[in-house]
Amino acid sequence: MKKLLAGLLIFILSGMLVTGIITRGKMPGNTASATPTPSASATPDAAVSPDANASPDASASPNASASPGASASPNASASPNASASPSASASPGASASPTPTPTSTPKPSASPNVSNDKKAPVIMVRYAAVDTYLNDVYNVNDAIMYVRDETDGDLKRADVLSNGVYTVKTDLDLKKEGTYTVNITARDKAGNESTEKFTVRVLPERDTKAPVIMVLYASTEIKVGQKYDPASAIMYVRDERDGDLKKADTLANGVYTVTTDLNTSKEGTYTVNIAARDKSGNESTEKFTVKVTGTPSTSGPTTIDLSDEDPVFRDTSSLLVVANKVHRLPEGYAPSDLVNVNDIGGVGTIAPYMRSEAAQAVVSMTKAAAADGLTLMFSSAYRSEDYQRQLYNGYVNSYGTERADRISSRPGYSDHQTGLACDFVTGTSVDFTADFENTKIGKWLHDNAYKYGFIMRYPKGKDAVTGYAYEPWHFRYVGVDVATAIHNEGDTQTFEEHFGVAGGQEYK
Ligand SMILES: [Zn+2]
Repeated sequence: MKKLLAGLLIFILSGMLVTGIITRGKMPGNTASATPTPSASATPDAAVSPDANASPDASASPNASASPGASASPNASASPNASASPSASASPGASASPTPTPTSTPKPSASPNVSNDKKAPVIMVRYAAVDTYLNDVYNVNDAIMYVRDETDGDLKRADVLSNGVYTVKTDLDLKKEGTYTVNITARDKAGNESTEKFTVRVLPERDTKAPVIMVLYASTEIKVGQKYDPASAIMYVRDERDGDLKKADTLANGVYTVTTDLNTSKEGTYTVNIAARDKSGNESTEKFTVKVTGTPSTSGPTTIDLSDEDPVFRDTSSLLVVANKVHRLPEGYAPSDLVNVNDIGGVGTIAPYMRSEAAQAVVSMTKAAAADGLTLMFSSAYRSEDYQRQLYNGYVNSYGTERADRISSRPGYSDHQTGLACDFVTGTSVDFTADFENTKIGKWLHDNAYKYGFIMRYPKGKDAVTGYAYEPWHFRYVGVDVATAIHNEGDTQTFEEHFGVAGGQEYK
């Protein structure tokens, strides 16, 4: 469930008050505030007062979005009522203008009429500069609080300048990004003139897309007392505009939260809720369930005696750790040094996490492939035990245990859980089929992967040794020396045969 909230930020007050730049909110009732309201024109002092400028809470306005709560929360300010309030939109604008005083210079009257009026009209604008977005509604009239002459009163707007009116001239194009100037010229009945101007910046289209929360499973099962971190189920929380969001205890712009009543020491079904909000206030939520059971969730087969094997193959900190049908990883094992390969220059489509050294190697290999004109892309690198359980159970439900065991590892037995393996893809229909070997990428990997420390983990015709059918796309990091040695022993050499470690088709 990706819930998109139209969280539209009305008047981002922090920072802009200092610079005098205002970011406009989308204001459905915007045009209503075009004419100065009693509330706006009644408080012109607020506009010129240094205190008003310094105040971060736009306290000049007594209404709606002036409250710190309303302006801080995009949801609150998304309410049309709040943003439609004319005084609400008037006040932050007024206080944001660093030069609200008119830059008028009285000019001698061109009129032959004799008049005592030597004072030029006052042009009062709400801001010196304003930001709006492509495809947003913006009306330059919003900026003008009033044009008033001491003798003649409020002047009327006209297309052509003459005595007793004012004009607004601009090349503003709301369909094109850029910075535009709006010029206002006023002339009273005695011919005294004033000018004022402000700038309108048209920014790229507003971010209205909510962040994407990607979790590894919709539900999972753990045993009473099992160590489990709900956050481990989150693959990523990413916003198109803001990138990866960070986890926080409290929901705010640009972060996500994980909340749950999960009690791992008590049987039951619990919900984990994830909420994310991007910097523009768009929100998403996602959830999954954790079932805590009293009995083991999978009946693990009895392990065979591997005591005559070098313990390095069961040492999860080693790059030579083995996961196959007779080597189960420790219950719930997760590498401690997982790195998002996408953050350091790799291209992973889903589950882009690998152990640090392997991640670096993928990046080096990606660069080398790029130098040869190829885009190296992978899918599904690290998979947690829970994720693997979900996958495997899905296959069992669809195809039955026998077929599921040929195409998927049981949880705890997957090479992917080591954080050292990844599946390369072309983004076409040959992915995860033997035909991958005929693609440019498939051939390049076959010939070059060893130089970066990777071996093809499941070579052709070695099902009986590795336990799996040919997977020309699945590569496993073992370090350059070992990879080179295995590569030099031939096209179909396996890790198991090279080191003489146990393997095979049967879970033991
Ligand atoms: Zn794989």
